[in-house]
Amino acid sequence: METSSDIIIIGAGIAGASLASELSSDHNVTLLEREDHAGYHATGRSAAIFLPTYGPPVIQALTQASSDFFHHPPQGFCDTPLLSPRAMMMIAKSADEEHIKEALDIGMHEVEMSEASNRIPALNTEIYIKAMVDDDTADIDVDVLLHACLKKAKQNGGTLFRRAEVKQIEKTRGGWRVHCKDHIYTAPIIVNAAGAWADEIAVMAGLPGCKLQPKRRSAALIDVSDKWDVTNWPLTVGAGDTFYFRPMGNKLMISPADETIVEPHDAWADDFALAQAMELFGEATGFEVNHVEHTWAGLRTFARDGNPVVGFDTQTEGFFWLAGQGGYGIQTSPALSRLAAALVQQRQIPGDIAKFGVEVQTLSPNRF
Ligand SMILES: Cc1cc2nc3c(=O)[nH]c(=O)nc-3n(C[C@H](O)[C@H](O)[C@H](O)COP(=O)(O)OP(=O)(O)OC[C@H]3O[C@@H](n4cnc5c(N)ncnc54)[C@H](O)[C@@H]3O)c2cc1C
Repeated sequence: METSSDIIIIGAGIAGASLASELSSDHNVTLLEREDHAGYHATGRSAAIFLPTYGPPVIQALTQASSDFFHHPPQGFCDTPLLSPRAMMMIAKSADEEHIKEALDIGMHEVEMSEASNRIPALNTEIYIKAMVDDDTADIDVDVLLHACLKKAKQNGGTLFRRAEVKQIEKTRGGWRVHCKDHIYTAPIIVNAAGAWADEIAVMAGLPGCKLQPKRRSAALIDVSDKWDVTNWPLTVGAGDTFYFRPMGNKLMISPADETIVEPHDAWADDFALAQAMELFGEATGFEVNHVEHTWAGLRTFARDGNPVVGFDTQTEGFFWLAGQGGYGIQTSPALSRLAAALVQQRQIPGDIAKFGVEVQTLSPNRF
């Protein structure tokens, strides 16, 4: 069986889905996903936070350029809000002077410890003596975002093929033949939105890859509802990113903020790192974690310079990259997908994104 389209996008995480939603209004788009459902890997495992001051300058710019979309999604895109307010609070010990300065430099403001205790009544203010707050952060409803993108792509005539693992990619005179188990897909353009596997896809297409580095991040969910109502607690980060915790409903997600370099795989949690995070959480709140409801891990995939990799590869024709979004792929997806769609269509970066200082060269796969 063979299916032909204008553009094949490999990977139905937030990158592939958001780009499909943009391109499908003008092009016949095929979206290929190896797993049973979209968002199974990094996208479905994130901390779901919108944090405008996070990451290198181009990430901050892309996040700012995405802010309007998150706050005011286009009419009919989704039925419920994409964001709900949740402050971010950094807690610091006496030895954390440098991290406090960094936090102030990026615009966080210091609050009295009485205010910090209002926000987290359990906070041990003998150990944590300073707190910095950012009130412009929010929770992202990733599920709503992802499925709204997929719905829009489908309404525009795009097709998502699940359980469609790309196994071989062949260059032809007219473009590409992409081989899955029992189906071949052809198109003049393929988009590599395969997350941690993006370099593997490039190698299949005869390219050297961009030396992307997947890094594992672990998380656990604990139930503290017997003791506290945590629904309105802020996202709380130990200075220097030693650990963080955030409410998910009335439960808490705790992460050691680990960044272990790994090969692309279906990631699972690092129990040792999680145990250290539980210890830090116990120190901060006095809560002894005896039972963990659920653990998971996901891969945050980075290029060497920490910037995303977006654009056509100049080493061959019709091979486009949308990868390396690191720990910020959800919060940047509205702007990054519009930017990527413009580049696929050989257009300039949209003016409302360029005005934040985003430049093609900073993101180009040919910069390495
Ligand atoms: C613990 C954790 C916390 C995070 N927190 C945040 C946060 O708070 N805010 C934020 O913005 N970002 C966060 N991130 C980062 C964010 O999740 C990622 O940047 C984003 O999900 C990357 O999306 P993606 O579509 O590129 O990758 P993925 O979601 O991994 O999607 C890639 C897809 O490609 C598919 N694929 C791969 N190979 C093939 C093949 N051969 N054939 C077919 N399909 C293939 C995979 O199955 C996968 O579904 C976090 C990540 C982690 C792990």
